[in-house]
Amino acid sequence: MSGSRARLQAVSAVTNYKPMSPPLNFAETPTGELFGINVFSSKVMKERLPKAVYKSLLKTIDSGEKLDASIADVVATAMKDWAIEKGATHYAHVFFPLTGLTAEKHDSFLSPDGSGGAIAEFSGAALIQGEPDASSFPSGGIRTTFEARGYTAWDTTSPAYILENPNGTTLCIPTAFVSWTGEALDKKTPLLRSMKALNEQARRVLKLFGHVEISMICSTAGAEQEYFLIDRNFFFARPDLLNAGRTLFGAKPPKGQELEDHYFGAIPERVLACMLETERELFKLGIPVKTRHNEVAPAQYEIAPIFENANVATDHQQLVMLTMKRVAQKYGMECLLHEKPFAGINGSGKHLNWSMGNSTQGNLLEPGDTPSENMQFLVFCAAVMRAVRRHSKLLRAVIAHAGNDHRLGANEAPPAIISIFLGEELTDIFEQIKKGGVKTAKRPGTLTVGVDTLPPLPRHAGDRNRTSPFAFTGNKFEFRAVGSSQSLAGPLVALNTIVAESLDYVATELEQVTKGDKKKLPGAVQKVLQGIMKENWDIIFNGDNYAESWHKEAEKRGLPNLRTTVESLPTISAKETVSLLSKYKVLSKRELESREEIYFEQYCKAINVEAILAVEIAQTLILPAAFRYQNELAQTAANLKSAGVAADTSLLERLGTLTKQLQANIEALEKAHAHKGAKNVHEEAHHYCKEVVPAMAAVRAVVDELEGIVADDLWPLPTYQEMLFIK
Ligand code: ADP
Ligand code: MG
Repeated sequence: MSGSRARLQAVSAVTNYKPMSPPLNFAETPTGELFGINVFSSKVMKERLPKAVYKSLLKTIDSGEKLDASIADVVATAMKDWAIEKGATHYAHVFFPLTGLTAEKHDSFLSPDGSGGAIAEFSGAALIQGEPDASSFPSGGIRTTFEARGYTAWDTTSPAYILENPNGTTLCIPTAFVSWTGEALDKKTPLLRSMKALNEQARRVLKLFGHVEISMICSTAGAEQEYFLIDRNFFFARPDLLNAGRTLFGAKPPKGQELEDHYFGAIPERVLACMLETERELFKLGIPVKTRHNEVAPAQYEIAPIFENANVATDHQQLVMLTMKRVAQKYGMECLLHEKPFAGINGSGKHLNWSMGNSTQGNLLEPGDTPSENMQFLVFCAAVMRAVRRHSKLLRAVIAHAGNDHRLGANEAPPAIISIFLGEELTDIFEQIKKGGVKTAKRPGTLTVGVDTLPPLPRHAGDRNRTSPFAFTGNKFEFRAVGSSQSLAGPLVALNTIVAESLDYVATELEQVTKGDKKKLPGAVQKVLQGIMKENWDIIFNGDNYAESWHKEAEKRGLPNLRTTVESLPTISAKETVSLLSKYKVLSKRELESREEIYFEQYCKAINVEAILAVEIAQTLILPAAFRYQNELAQTAANLKSAGVAADTSLLERLGTLTKQLQANIEALEKAHAHKGAKNVHEEAHHYCKEVVPAMAAVRAVVDELEGIVADDLWPLPTYQEMLFIK
């Protein structure tokens, strides 16, 4: 094994790895006993709260009714007592700023008692509302820095929990973060608002179908999280991974993912140990993680939970990411959540499984067994199709950020073109509806809604198209274009709201035609569905989304293909988005404009860091290595010459050309990066996208070529081969 000293040390540390903590013992403490022990769940509430208070709180949680402020003190005291029994010294309002990360502000329970001592206190007021000094969170101009005012408000629908640390625990309270004028400064607030909008519109449709008792309809979400695990010794030896979360350089290893021997293969022992502990921690937090497996790329894995109410699922997903990172470090590994840590190897996504439902009618995207259930299913399914067709640009915008540009719009799955995979069977059914019209007499190949039963729809993973960005998978849709590091909130806000709008449209049409006459419903439904299919048929694509031919076909169909973040983000404050989101009171014009601005800024910041790093690494690590090798070769040539042996200097010359090229490319990147004079953040982002990103790629191309030439013992960075295959 050769390699520079830093690399050799890293490799030796990896191979000599010894676990730091004693092994877990699930025979002693079965997972069933662990599940939810750190959650202030309804079970805990029932045990600890007076009956009336418990009932009132439950009503707020289940029906979305306003919280009765008079019970807050009682709840807060019960929460505090429970937390202190679990070793808590502090409580924290947890909130979700627009960075996509999770933020916490911790406060001690202790208050001076006025006679030199202190007592543990937690008032209802402190539970309901907090005031973090949040001046440095992005607000896009809504809350100017000098005001620095915003407050966190308890989200009763997402349970409080205990965060453990070896030196004590903290009571964590999920909150929404808003300005004093009531504007959303976070990811949670619009999510809650969008769920409300979906509930209202879905109810209208269900009422038309004759349902009387309808509990609150929630969107449901389950996210499959892909990630990489590499040894931390390599991570620390790579300034790019450390600072940008992805490698800016690195030649493709001789063995990549072509052999497909990693996918669903046996999980390496240390990785499995890490997964077991991660899952145990998540169980304690009441997060129902279910599956784990190796992904396609070497060193890539996936974790997926059972779906939950979308708001809770989003909070839980944030905890999944934090916990994965934290526990991996205990096992000497770094968990990489970036969308594209390694070029030339599959990137990571977060497949968002989405549906809507409630406790009285169940999953509304479940086809059901009877003609009437089928009819209702077709309405909800068609509403989703209509929504996605009409607002595909918005769906593209909410998954746009610098990291995801390496997946979407690059030659990787899924493409930036949003289309829907329905599967053959369901496509055929909708095709019949599209052709069939309102005729009740049955013609061959037509389906009469409300009379016929649907054939069973396949639900097995094998039947599915893995290349589609938005696929129907039997009883839910799977939005696959979401990036691995992203919060679920943005995509969920978009989905909930666009579907609410489509359900609003359907309900209005049906109400007008039926005027309360249930007998008219099947005919009316058939007509509405036919209209939706005729108008939105173009969104269906069951073929291979990677194929070049699809890109051409999509263009012919007029489906947008926004390849970059910079092209996608303007949709966030576009007229149609503003009118849609403000109509359903999800986000106002000002809130949308501020968000767009913040996301543009984040894009610029990400590329800025990468550009600085690329210059630094190329200049201070790569060039010196190349020059040293050049020197070695030159000396060899001189020695050979003086010994009277003819020296082949072609390698030396090649190296000379490449080092010259590298210096020129570094200079070009520096120049592109130093550019000033952008009038606003849009212009600046455009410059980064059009000038800086290609200049970085040009530097990379030369560096990666040098990696194949320079003597291995001089190469300063851990290679792809080492990072991906030494475990
Ligand atoms: P599959 O056969 O599609 O893998 P699974 O039932 O294993 O089906 O689901 C994959 C993911 O989809 C899981 O995270 C699961 O919780 C989620 N999921 C299943 N049903 C729903 C639903 N109704 N709403 C949201 N997510 C769901
Ligand atoms: Mg997957």
